[in-house]
Amino acid sequence: MFNKVVIANRGEIALRILRACKELGIQTVAVHSKADGDLLHVRLADESVCIGGTSATDSYLNIPAIISAAEITDANAIHPGYGFLAENANFAEQVEKSGFTFIGPRADSIRLMGDKVSAIAAMKQAGVPCVQGSDGALSEDDGENLKIAREIGYPVIIKASGGGGGKGMRVVRSEAALINAISLAKSEAEMNFGNATVYMERFLDNPRHIEIQVLGDGAGKAIHLGERDCSMQRRHQKVLEEAPAPGITEKQRHHIGKRCVRACEEMRYRGAGTFEFLYQDGHFFFIEMNTRIQVEHPVTELVTGVDLIREQLRIAAGLGLSYKQSDIRMRGHAIECRINAEDPIKFTPSPGQIKLYHPPGGPGIRMDTHIYSSYKVPPYYDSMIGKLIAFGDTRAVAIARMRNALDEIIIDGIKTNISLHQRLMHDGYFHEGGTNIHYLEKKLAQED
Ligand code: ADP
Repeated sequence: MFNKVVIANRGEIALRILRACKELGIQTVAVHSKADGDLLHVRLADESVCIGGTSATDSYLNIPAIISAAEITDANAIHPGYGFLAENANFAEQVEKSGFTFIGPRADSIRLMGDKVSAIAAMKQAGVPCVQGSDGALSEDDGENLKIAREIGYPVIIKASGGGGGKGMRVVRSEAALINAISLAKSEAEMNFGNATVYMERFLDNPRHIEIQVLGDGAGKAIHLGERDCSMQRRHQKVLEEAPAPGITEKQRHHIGKRCVRACEEMRYRGAGTFEFLYQDGHFFFIEMNTRIQVEHPVTELVTGVDLIREQLRIAAGLGLSYKQSDIRMRGHAIECRINAEDPIKFTPSPGQIKLYHPPGGPGIRMDTHIYSSYKVPPYYDSMIGKLIAFGDTRAVAIARMRNALDEIIIDGIKTNISLHQRLMHDGYFHEGGTNIHYLEKKLAQED
């Protein structure tokens, strides 16, 4: 196992990684921006290095500064967390070239999955179901593109191969609008992602977002840890996640999980990853793979009993997978509410000082957060300040515990979206389970 790991992130995930390292007897180095000297994990780490100014570009995205911090502290490995440099293949490559272990997949896997056209081609090859669409990038041939759309049937969606964060997509509802939409999508893609490649897919009207968690040992062995339902979204941002996904049968889980495992084995995938699918009318359609740990990983941890960060560390250290597929069983139900420092109605960020923080508790409650009373939420980064996770034998028990926890938690001094989660915990359609990705926005529009 490693002696010392650099945590190249901030907030709750940095603290989560620090805790996993400490359990394994690994020393930790916190690298942080000028605005983040008072973060909890910075105080708890064995060593800390200020790597730059308040902006992420100067600090958490500053590759030479992070690698220098690993050098001066004589660390063995770097954990990128999520966001920032976690899916940057050049970073992974430079970390390894500098003699450190990147706690994540090899750069070639990150690159393959970072380009959606190549990712979809690899998935088709491995037998993972994809959305019906153009076979690869769209050409300049208008006649050909019209033909592809006609075969798929309208509406279609034009997507940027280099796209991300819900950007670079255009829905086209009629033939008259297609050619213009493709050329607009291409110039937007070139401008935003430096890559004009676009492709076409059937547009699904009311899908759910269901994703499969995987672990690969990097040597051709992989397992899946079941699915999560992340359909509760606002502006393509996940708000609440749960595992298992309501209504998904053991047979479906096995069927789709096996295909994800095969895809991982074919690319000799190393570490934790997630296959994201749209799910509609009983069918899964691959949309993208995230080659990193995800925000919502705790719901999978609670229903499987697997510590995913520990597994990431063990795999990166070359110790292989701790589990066989037959060891993985899903038990009970877990729900995660993302707690954001934001106005619960207008969704504008609400940074500032937390005067009082009182955490929730009781059976089945887990709170992953870096906040404490008197902590000042800086305005420079993402507004998520914590994740409240509830576990129970059944979904109803998990909801009941989540309701209690949301009533107990106190975060005074800034605005948070806790009241939104309270409304969701009392929502009839949420109780039924299986709402689609448009549900939350429709509900919010109605409440408005
Ligand atoms: P990004 O990397 O930008 O997140 P994705 O491919 O994951 O892009 O798509 C983001 C979101 O866009 C999906 O969660 C879904 O809401 C919508 N979307 C993408 N492809 C389709 C499709 N074929 N049909 C309907 N909605 C889609």
